[in-house]
Amino acid sequence: MKRLLFSLAYLFSFFSFSLAQSDSSLLKSLQDEIMLHGTCYENLRVLTQSIGHRLSGSPQAEKAVQWGLKTMREAGADTAWLQPALVPHWVRGNEWLQVKLPGSKGFEPMRMTSLGNSIGSGKPVEAPVIMVQTMDEFYKLSPAAVAGKIVFFNYRFRQDIINTFEGYGDAIKYRILPPVAVAQKGGVGVIIRSVGTGVDDVPHTGVTRIVDSVRKIPCVAIGYLGANRLEAACRQGGVTARVLTSGKMLPPVLSYNVIGEIKGSEFPNEYVIAGGHLDSWDVGQGAQDDGAGCVQSIEIIRAFKKLGIRPKRSVRAVLFMNEENGSKGAHAYADSAVARHEKHVLAIESDAGGFSPRGFGMDMPLEKKSIVRSWLPYFLPMGVYDFSGEDAGVDVSPLGKSGAALAGLYPDSQRYFDIHHTDEDRFDKVSHRELKLGAAAMATLVWLASQYGL
Ligand SMILES: [Zn+2]
Repeated sequence: MKRLLFSLAYLFSFFSFSLAQSDSSLLKSLQDEIMLHGTCYENLRVLTQSIGHRLSGSPQAEKAVQWGLKTMREAGADTAWLQPALVPHWVRGNEWLQVKLPGSKGFEPMRMTSLGNSIGSGKPVEAPVIMVQTMDEFYKLSPAAVAGKIVFFNYRFRQDIINTFEGYGDAIKYRILPPVAVAQKGGVGVIIRSVGTGVDDVPHTGVTRIVDSVRKIPCVAIGYLGANRLEAACRQGGVTARVLTSGKMLPPVLSYNVIGEIKGSEFPNEYVIAGGHLDSWDVGQGAQDDGAGCVQSIEIIRAFKKLGIRPKRSVRAVLFMNEENGSKGAHAYADSAVARHEKHVLAIESDAGGFSPRGFGMDMPLEKKSIVRSWLPYFLPMGVYDFSGEDAGVDVSPLGKSGAALAGLYPDSQRYFDIHHTDEDRFDKVSHRELKLGAAAMATLVWLASQYGL
């Protein structure tokens, strides 16, 4: 009996070893296919250079939807379709900022950008500027000190937090909270030091929080160098700013997520999905944020089809609409998954840039994390080793409620917030090798989850 058990154990270990060997060679050909013949970089060139930035509701976003559907079909998806989502339609309009520094006779222009979703003044607002370093410092000010003033929030992105996504998490309240907080104390405008890591004069936009019942005031971001100048001037005192913003929220627009699918051979109603968001801010070209995640997701479909890989579970690439200022696409996808009783085994998001992949954040129970971590040897040759994070992403998060395991591609984070939400987020900032390597890492995880489940 003992002997029989031993033989069975031996057989089993031999079987799993040979299985792992065949998995290794399949995954190596998948990774090779993407590195040697991947089309994601060329797809990103077309998306970013022929369409450009594509804020939800804009004509460019509509063009991007049509591009996504066509590209998904060219990649060989068994089926590709559009999933409707009603999205907000914010437009920026004319805007400028001028400052009068102590000792100077006139106003000089300062490079700026309005914060997304903010409602413009429509006419110039001129007022003295007061500076605070932190929200706590602002909360201590009396309404009398704030009334009639433009408040400059001079909080610096923390360079000592090594993972810049954590640094972003620390600083983001300075983009979200000031418009309402300042208006409630009678202030007439907000200027923030951009939430970004760059040492340049490039302002970073991004969504802010507006409340219907609170008066709307201009809220703008300035670049690192502009903020340094304004900071030095405020220390001397006597700074006045003049600001015009014209942001408007137009009626919602019918837009779409783009979905491409390869039908699973054994569990067709179980899904492993990989996605990025198709919309971007109305600056730059939306290359790293998040054209990269879109073309990487499409690349998985292309490589599977090219190699004739038939996954056991259905695999989808999803280009989500409206991540930046409403997440309507993410909710439309999750609602549809519930309505159609689709079991999502794993949802992977790539929305942290197309830089060298380092790992995956995992938002899932411990036993599922252990399974993913057991696959580490398949990732190490790509330099992908870090499975310690817990963040997946905004677009996949609504799927978590129905029990899907969530994961987020975690690339090297050092340069992302230099260009995030700026004019500098352009195609030429993307490395074709790093982009493809990220796609290869995602494809590896997609195949393993589609083969073995979670
Ligand atoms: Zn993004």
